[in-house]
Amino acid sequence: MDLDSKIYVAGHRGLVGSAIVRKLKEKGYTNIIYRTSKELDLTDRTQVDQFFAEEKPEYVFMAAAKVGGIVANNEYPADFIRDNIMIQTNVIDASYQNNVKKLLFLGSTCIYPKYAPQPMNEDSLLTGELEPTNEPYAIAKIAGIKMCEAYNRQYGTNYISVMPTNLYGPNDNFDLETSHVLPALIRKFHEAKINSKHTVEVWGTGNPKREFLHSYDLADATVYLMNHYEENQFVNIGVGKDLPIKELAEKIKSVVGYEGEIVFNTDKPDGTPRKLVDVTKLSNTGWEASISLDEGLKSTYDWFLNNIENGT
Ligand code: GDP
Repeated sequence: MDLDSKIYVAGHRGLVGSAIVRKLKEKGYTNIIYRTSKELDLTDRTQVDQFFAEEKPEYVFMAAAKVGGIVANNEYPADFIRDNIMIQTNVIDASYQNNVKKLLFLGSTCIYPKYAPQPMNEDSLLTGELEPTNEPYAIAKIAGIKMCEAYNRQYGTNYISVMPTNLYGPNDNFDLETSHVLPALIRKFHEAKINSKHTVEVWGTGNPKREFLHSYDLADATVYLMNHYEENQFVNIGVGKDLPIKELAEKIKSVVGYEGEIVFNTDKPDGTPRKLVDVTKLSNTGWEASISLDEGLKSTYDWFLNNIENGT
């Protein structure tokens, strides 16, 4: 990408898209375009075609998706598979029709089989059953990856896909019903502290292990890969380390400064026992994460205090 290349960031208000826009600006890119979902409904093919024909972006960061945590995925499976397949199909095909030079598609590590050997290597895709709680979302993402690969093979396009591990950071969803574990726990511990509650409920057993990548690190990796990665095989993005939810809860408790107790509610699902990505391929490109979890938790809690707690 040149600094004046026309770059479309789809999903620029979300956790990932907002971090990508920030990173592009920081690196000096001057011609970034985006639309809110009100201005451009990506599930509507006519609107998407019109947008691409008018704007003719040269590069596309495909960060628009319907996302949610374990409970949301379980409760709205139809919405997750339908909206994601529609959005990504519209954007990928419109990119092809309008000669986009390169597109980066964002997937998720839930595409891997539930019992994939850990750390999860890119080659374990489609080698076993998926975690049932987010299967519809995962199937949509797998379709997106395969669509990019198929377009590259048949049409000679240059579309790459990246699979980020669990992400967190500014603009995350902090809603207790639909969010992922990290923002949910920030909110729960914060509210318990403010309301002097004696206990905080953490879902499941606390034993499942997860890896967490700060969205600014992910954004840095996507810009790097857009400029340096050409292979027709998707690549994991992670930090290469994970920790049990129990330990994550302890860390957040301490960052927030909450002094009560943690209670595990085993009526809520645990999900996949472990989800750590193999970052060998990513490391071979020369990129690595730089924001530690302790640092990231502190800055994300600050962001929460400034933007959610005081904003609502
Ligand atoms: P997953 O990584 O796709 O399983 O999605 P989540 O981030 O929603 O959940 C990760 C793990 O954290 C699961 O074992 C959850 O049961 C557990 N967890 C503990 N407390 C919470 C919470 O308050 N919200 C969410 N979303 N998950 C929680």
